[in-house]
Amino acid sequence: MNRIDAPGTAEADWRAWPGLDALPELDVTRWRSAVIVAAHPDDEVLGAGGLIAVLAERGVRLRLVAVTDGESSHPDEPPARIAAVRVAETEKALTHLGACETIRLGMPDAGVDEIALTPRLRELAAGFDVCLAPWEHDAHRDHEAAGRAALACGAPEVLRFPIWAWHWARPADARVPWDRAVRVPLGTGLQARKRSAIGCFASQLGTILPPATVEHFTRDAEVLIR
Ligand SMILES: [Zn+2]
Repeated sequence: MNRIDAPGTAEADWRAWPGLDALPELDVTRWRSAVIVAAHPDDEVLGAGGLIAVLAERGVRLRLVAVTDGESSHPDEPPARIAAVRVAETEKALTHLGACETIRLGMPDAGVDEIALTPRLRELAAGFDVCLAPWEHDAHRDHEAAGRAALACGAPEVLRFPIWAWHWARPADARVPWDRAVRVPLGTGLQARKRSAIGCFASQLGTILPPATVEHFTRDAEVLIR
């Protein structure tokens, strides 16, 4: 069984671990523009929705690069219908977070090609101060391909957000580079907005994103890796 399908770490265990609160706080004041890379519709909200809202409030120019439309999440349904649903869900979710230009690449879900993606990201991240992307060791092939492509995109800073790692990793897990991790504290207002944004992903909530998994993304801070 792969790490995503195996039983995961309870959010209560993460919240009980002092290591998360001890991470240094991310300084966002130096950024005027940010590119956010999502392998699937919902990655950007789960992994960095609070940070997106913080940056939008600061007037930072935001560009979302949506790599796939997530058409493979329901193998028994027509892919085009699923893609349309998921794109609409993301658009609605972003309205809770702030103004963000969206560029959709339409690459195949479950088949993100790092070699094809890297030059597109180079072009789309040119002139931006920072790139935020899924973590390149998240144990999900599309997340890892997107993270590796982001690392090669040429942005002055590239921060990566874990998604599935909150499920398969454990507090103090040696597979996670905690010494390069930073936290973005989210006050109650930001937490509520992020929760509203996550609530827009109706097609994913339940079986694909069960409540125990969603709990990892409604805590009072986000964590990114430098
Ligand atoms: Zn994803």
